[in-house]
Amino acid sequence: MIIAIDGPAGAGKSTVARILAKKLGFLYVDTGAMYRALTLKILENNVAISDEPRINALAQKVRIDLRNNADGSLSVILDGRDVSLEIRQARITQFVSDVAKIKTVRQVLVAMQRDMGKRGDCVLDGRDIGTVVFPDARKKFFIDASKGVRVDRRFKELKGLGQDVAINDVEKDLSNRDKIDSTREASPLRCAPDAVYIDTTGLSIEQVVDKMLGFIK
Ligand code: C5P
Repeated sequence: MIIAIDGPAGAGKSTVARILAKKLGFLYVDTGAMYRALTLKILENNVAISDEPRINALAQKVRIDLRNNADGSLSVILDGRDVSLEIRQARITQFVSDVAKIKTVRQVLVAMQRDMGKRGDCVLDGRDIGTVVFPDARKKFFIDASKGVRVDRRFKELKGLGQDVAINDVEKDLSNRDKIDSTREASPLRCAPDAVYIDTTGLSIEQVVDKMLGFIK
């Protein structure tokens, strides 16, 4: 069974997806982490974000694994190396949406995501899971929140990771990514017509998870 969760940055998708997967005993696939890992690979190879042919070549040979740990956390493995923390850095966040709008990049990563989905019951979160990656997913959710709340949540998350960020920069990053993600030509961020839309603005994590479980059961 596939559960698809989409929504804009900072809405809390990955937090609820991870909890939901653990509660249901499903595999959790953070597709944003895959775009982030590829972006890290591009930067490490000193490839310009505008150099699509070289980016495509890197995408074809990259190995990205997602490991679900017993404590509910997720390890992101890039070519055999754990990059879970590195991919959350601002330099990755700054470029990831420009990488993710490249059509060939999406084709390669979507194919990987579909393979992961075949391994068993899965919760996947991203921007195009219910619309493109798994349009036949058994259950689809679109998780949203007001801009202010999303900025606040992302700010606290980054602080929790020990990053010295300014709230203004978080706000700029979110606006920039929202714009690129929802206006790009290749699978833009959309709420699938058959998705359950949840506005999490005034809700706690537990309330959102409970709501979702209610729809699943
Ligand atoms: O989920 P997260 O914010 O980590 O995703 C980082 C970026 O990866 C998004 O802003 C978006 O540009 C891209 N992404 C995507 N499609 C997905 C998941 C993420 O384009 N399914």
